[in-house]
Order: sequence, then C-alpha cells, then structure tokens
Amino acid sequence: MDKNTLVESMNADKEILETAKSCGHYAMCKIDFLGCGVCASGLEKHYVSFYPQGRMDLYAALAEGEIPVTRKCLEITEGCNLCGKCDYNCYFSSELRPSKVMKALKAHIADYLNNGGGIVDIPHDGLLVEIKKIVGEEWASNDPAILAAYHHDLCPHVEFHQPRYVVLPQSKEEIAALIRLLRVQGVNYVARGNGASSHGLAFSDGAVLDLSRMKTMDFDEKNWSVTVGPGVSAFEVQKAAQQRGYRVNTAEPAANVCANIMTSGLISTYAPSFGIGADNYIDAEFIGKDGEYFRLNELTAPNLFSFQNNLAEPEHLAICVSVTIKLHPRMSDEAGVLVPFDSLAKALDFSKECAARRIGLAIVILGREFISTFLAPTKGLATDVKEIFSLRLGMPYLVLLTGDTHALRSVRDMGHPLINQKLFKTLYLNIPKLKSSGWLDMLEGVSNDQLFSYLKLPQLPDLAEMALGSSSATLTRDIDPELRPFFTKLYAKPELTNLVWINTFRIYSSRYCRANPSVSLVFYLPIDNALIREIQEGFDAIAAKHRVKGEFGFITPLDCGKRCVFEYDFYFNHLDPEEKVRIQEAAREAGALLDDYDQKTGVIRQVRYLVNRGCCRTENLLYTTKG
Ligand SMILES: Cc1cc2nc3c(=O)[nH]c(=O)nc-3n(C[C@H](O)[C@H](O)[C@H](O)COP(=O)(O)OP(=O)(O)OC[C@H]3O[C@@H](n4cnc5c(N)ncnc54)[C@H](O)[C@@H]3O)c2cc1C
Ligand code: SF4
Ligand code: SF4
Repeated sequence: MDKNTLVESMNADKEILETAKSCGHYAMCKIDFLGCGVCASGLEKHYVSFYPQGRMDLYAALAEGEIPVTRKCLEITEGCNLCGKCDYNCYFSSELRPSKVMKALKAHIADYLNNGGGIVDIPHDGLLVEIKKIVGEEWASNDPAILAAYHHDLCPHVEFHQPRYVVLPQSKEEIAALIRLLRVQGVNYVARGNGASSHGLAFSDGAVLDLSRMKTMDFDEKNWSVTVGPGVSAFEVQKAAQQRGYRVNTAEPAANVCANIMTSGLISTYAPSFGIGADNYIDAEFIGKDGEYFRLNELTAPNLFSFQNNLAEPEHLAICVSVTIKLHPRMSDEAGVLVPFDSLAKALDFSKECAARRIGLAIVILGREFISTFLAPTKGLATDVKEIFSLRLGMPYLVLLTGDTHALRSVRDMGHPLINQKLFKTLYLNIPKLKSSGWLDMLEGVSNDQLFSYLKLPQLPDLAEMALGSSSATLTRDIDPELRPFFTKLYAKPELTNLVWINTFRIYSSRYCRANPSVSLVFYLPIDNALIREIQEGFDAIAAKHRVKGEFGFITPLDCGKRCVFEYDFYFNHLDPEEKVRIQEAAREAGALLDDYDQKTGVIRQVRYLVNRGCCRTENLLYTTKG
C-alpha cells in the first residue's frame, strides 16, 4: 500500500477524522481529574504524542498526508492498549470518544503494513545528536509523528510551522544547557507547559521544550508555600494542597502553574481574595535568554515585575523553572451559593459590593453560555439548560460566591434570594427533567413582588428534592450508553455537586469550548457598568456583523472591587475555512475596539499584552500608566 491509499482510507472514515480534528488540545486527558487513571503510555513516555491528544493529532496528520509512516508512528500506535480510559476524561470535557480514533488508527496502520506499506527513516541530524547528549537519547526527537502533536492548536489567526525538535528536559541545568546550545546554533525555542493555552502560543519553528517531566512539588508548610516545577498542573498541586488541608490559587485544571502565571497572570474566581500576577507567588526562578539563572527576589534580577501596556504582544523573556506559590487556609464551614440576577448591571453591583466589603472568598459572574456549558454533561442538554435558566427562570446571570458562614450570612443579610448548596445539587442532578417539569411553573405561584422571592422559602430545597429526587441516573440519562454506568457513579460522588469543590478544582469549566472553539477577549478594567455595557454591546455588534456567535463569558471582581477581569468569547467552526476568515476579522476588530477604549479611558489592560509577563506586579498591571 502506498501513502496515498493510506490517506484515502483514513479520510473515508469521516466521523473518525472529524473526531480527531475536534480535539481542543485542552490536555484534560493528561490529568487524572475523574479518578479513573490516565493513559499509561503517556505517563511512561511523556511526549504529548503518546497521550490520547497526540494520537488524535497523529490520525489527522496521517489522514491529511502531512506526515509519512515512521518508526515513532508505529510505536505511538502500538503504545495504545485500547483501555478506553481516555473516553471518560474526554467525554466529560469535550463529549468525544478518543478510543474510537485509536482503534481506527491501529486498523489503518495494520492494513497499511499488511499491504506492503513502507516505513520512512528520518535522516541523521547533527544538532539532534547534540541535544540528546544534554537530555538523553529518549528525550528529544525530530520524528514527524512526534512533532505532529506540537504543531498546532485551534487558534484561527496563527500560521503554524512544524517544529524541528521536541525536547523534554528534566532539570533546570538541562534547560540552561539547551538554551545555550540553541542560541549558538541560531535555533528558536519555546517553553511548553500542557499546551492548553489554545491561542497559538506554545509553538516554534525551532525547538519546543516540553517541560512536562519537571513535576517536583516541595511543600514548606512553616512558610505557607509550595514550590512547583514547570511540569506541575493546577489540578495536581491543588489536590496535593488539599490533602494537607490547604488551598492554592489555581485556575484551569490542566494548565501548568508556571505557564499559567506567565500567560495570563493566573486569573481564578478566587482573585477577589488571592489576587493575580505577582500576588500569586512568593518567589520564582528563571533562566534568561543567555542561559543564566535568576530569582525574582535577587537584587540584581531583571525586573519581571514590570508591565508595559504595549500595543505589541510581548516576547518570551525567560523560562520559569520553578515558582513558590502561596498556601491558603481552608475553613471547615465553607460553602457556595448561586445568586441569580436578571441583568448584568445588578450582578455587577452585587459583586462589586461583596468585593469592596471583602465578603466571600471566590466571586464570579457567570453568563448563560458558561452556566449552560459547565452544568450540562452533553452539548444537547446545554441548550436546555440555557433555556431553563435564561428564559424560564429569568436568570441570565448567576453570581457564584463561596465563603464561610459569616460571609454567607452577610450575603443573606443583603437580602438577595439565592440558590443554596442543597437546592443547587437537586437542580443540577435533575437538569434533564427540568425542561418538561411543571414544578418550575409552580414557583411563580409562591412568589411575591421581589424577583426570585420563592428562593427565600426555607422549605424550598427539601420540597425540590422531594419533587425531583436526587439520583445521578437522571443527570446521565442522555449520556452515551456505554459510558453511562461510569458517569452515574461519578456524579453520585458528593464533591461533583459541591460548589466549593467544583470551584476549587474547576473541572467543569474544561467544557467551555465543547461545542466549538473560541477566540477569547480577556481584559482588566474598572467595574464601571456603563463602560462594561458599551464594550459588551460593541462585541455583540462585531459578532453580528461577522455572523459568528459572541457571548459574555464571566466577570470576576478584583482588588476590593476597584477593578475586574472580563472575558467575552467569539465561537467559530474550525472545520469551516470561510468561518475562520470571519472569526479572524471579528477578533481583530474586537482587539482594536479595546485598544480604542484604552486610548480613551487609560484603564483597560488586555491579557494579550500580558502574555509572557503574567508574573508582573499586580499594581503595575492594573494601575500604572507610565512604562
Ligand atoms: C478554555 C480555556 C480556559 C481558560 N481559562 C483561564 C482562566 O480562567 N484563567 C487563566 O488564568 N487562564 C485561563 N486560560 C489560559 C490558560 O490556562 C493559560 O494559557 C495557561 O498558561 C495554560 O497552561 P499550559 O500549561 O497549557 O500552557 P501552554 O499553553 O503550554 O503555554 C502557555 C504560554 O506560556 C509559556 N510557557 C509555558 N511554560 C512556561 C514556563 N515554564 N516559563 C515561561 N513561559 C512558559 C508558553 O511558551 C506559552 O507562551 C484558559 C485557556 C483556555 C483554552
Ligand atoms: S479533546 Fe481534550 S481530553 Fe480529548 S483527546 Fe483532545 S486534549 Fe485530550
Ligand atoms: S485507549 Fe489508548 S489512548 Fe486511550 S487511554 Fe487507553 S491506551 Fe491511552
């Protein structure tokens, strides 16, 4: 069989190819967030290529004729034992079943070999030999089957190039030696965490330094800190901290902590209490472009605390090889509530007041898109959830607030009707029933003049549970029947419906681009209702003009309510080339709109100007006007 026949046969499996090309590169198959384990070959070989994500890319690259069949291609294909673990993680976050792609990949490659298909040898490369002298034979490659997993993400406005090498150093000394070697040879390089930034950031036409082997975690409880290596993900350190009775400030579970701080300043719903940027850490160690080490606490260290609000995206300055982040106490009486609002202005007023009065630990305003996508276990149900909360209940905005008993009592004293933990659990487990349930209509009948006043009825959580039940089997009834037993058991676990746990480990927000990828506009600004409304209307108009879906994402207050962080998302179909052109234009106009507002007001800071500088001092980021 020749390469063209292989391409043809792989393309004929249209559904499989579409699944392979729908991998969002969000790396949820690299972390054990459901307790069912992670791909054994990925854990052993560490290259993304040996994780489900990499095999999805390998299938797509072979089907599109981008790469030949090589020895690594066979090793990656054979390395999958079809255990099916990836289906759980991937279905939870993306509603995909990678094992079907893996099965097809094995079948096509076996067919190719059985029909006399050849294996292409990779020519000798002198620089690769030198790189391997630093990291060891196994930990660097230029095989196209390896490179295919480091070559692109779904970002629509980046021109991707295949890297020349993927290298997996294990120590800072190895990174320093690599930087010196690559510099002498004039080869570009980029640091890569889990590659989940999804905005075309962790790519290079030279060497990709995948730091995922650097997984050290050293707790120093006396000094309320933990020092993590650049391969440690948010989920991993949060889990380890929780086992010791602490909390750390982390955001997306698959994001590596060092990368997250460097990229966005690490924005979590705990930002009102724990801050962003340099608030997150005590010290950090870097290797500069000259291959020399420095710590931020040294008097002579380069000033990475600086923030320049340049209208040009900042380049990679240094590689963070460890960061010492803060441990925070956890209270035994913490709980979460959802406070509903019929308008963004009211949700902003409430959130600002809570932040200014320092009420609550985590505060976030969620719009209907995030509410529906996060809560629903499938894309189909997400449409129902949107309708239920937004139209039927008249709650297009929910403020998720967590805190101790004192904080939650204060929220109640402020007079807002709210969904407490018990009611949330019942509504959540019964999502598939709610649309057709007459029960929601009855709520109107027990309301007075205050909007959502039925939520103040003390018996409501018990009545809801009696009327709807509390079985996780209801929630999973639309899930793929083969996976349903696993998920029914999963959702019965108390933490999966606990607002504090959900908010701390953030596993539901990994569903955010489940239906379609997005381009996100993330920016810091004052909680000025008129300004926020104007910007949102501007984005909505851009989305309508370019016929793409545009949705409010979230707003979290910062620094006692003086500022907030706002995310708005433009969604697009990455498989439609014409829509990709429209999303590029929409994203460009939206960025320009924010630049204009910044010129007019001097108070807007876009995260795209923060990339590679997220470790900066928060005050420089939010308030400094002179560079
Ligand atoms: C769906 C989605 C939701 C998100 N939500 C949030 C959110 O709520 N809050 C938030 O803060 N972010 C959020 N992000 C951004 C994302 O979490 C960050 O971009 C994070 O950096 C991803 O981690 P990673 O390990 O995958 O980084 P990568 O994608 O591997 O790298 C991101 C960038 O960091 C650089 N980098 C990686 N490691 C290092 C290092 N050790 N030293 C120096 N530079 C390095 C890379 O070169 C690249 O420029 C979101 C992203 C997506 C796609
Ligand atoms: S969609 Fe996410 S979980 Fe699924 S294979 Fe891709 S990276 Fe892994
Ligand atoms: S099915 Fe294959 S790719 Fe998926 S987890 Fe198992 S071994 Fe890994």
